[in-house]
Amino acid sequence: MHVKRATPKVPSQFFACPGVNCEDSEPTPFLFDKIGRITIATKRVVKMIDTAPLDVDRPMKPAMWNGLRCRCPNCGEGRLFAGYLKVTDRCAHCSTDLHHHRADDGPAYLTILVVGHIMGFVMHLMWTQLRPEPWVMATTLTLFAVVLSLFLLPRLKGLIVAIQWAKRMHGFGGTA
Ligand SMILES: [Zn+2]
Repeated sequence: MHVKRATPKVPSQFFACPGVNCEDSEPTPFLFDKIGRITIATKRVVKMIDTAPLDVDRPMKPAMWNGLRCRCPNCGEGRLFAGYLKVTDRCAHCSTDLHHHRADDGPAYLTILVVGHIMGFVMHLMWTQLRPEPWVMATTLTLFAVVLSLFLLPRLKGLIVAIQWAKRMHGFGGTA
């Protein structure tokens, strides 16, 4: 018995031409064939777009180093922060937009991760080697943890913002 294959319903927006800078406003059934399968031509175009080199190279390592120094990831000269943790909207030196960052709670997570590991070793060494009075140990370690956290937090935020800039994440995709 001959069974007619049902044509899948493909939303009309998927019929738009996938060409880069395509001026053609006419929808064209280029992405899918008559029975709704994705075409080989489409796969080729998608691969070309995915592997196309970005117009401006953004080296990761210098950007990360600049971020750790709380400097603009692009030029390494302008200040990254307008306050203790407030990222400046635009670099005063090279005018790179920096307000696109989405560091969120990443810097706090990294700070806890690093400080927690350091504190573990310090507590162990302090107790086994020095055996101080409990109140001395508690006070010293608390102060050390707070100072280390406050020192690392902006630097790790700078690192995350720099990675986002170098990887063109969020709104950092412009050519500037
Ligand atoms: Zn800059």
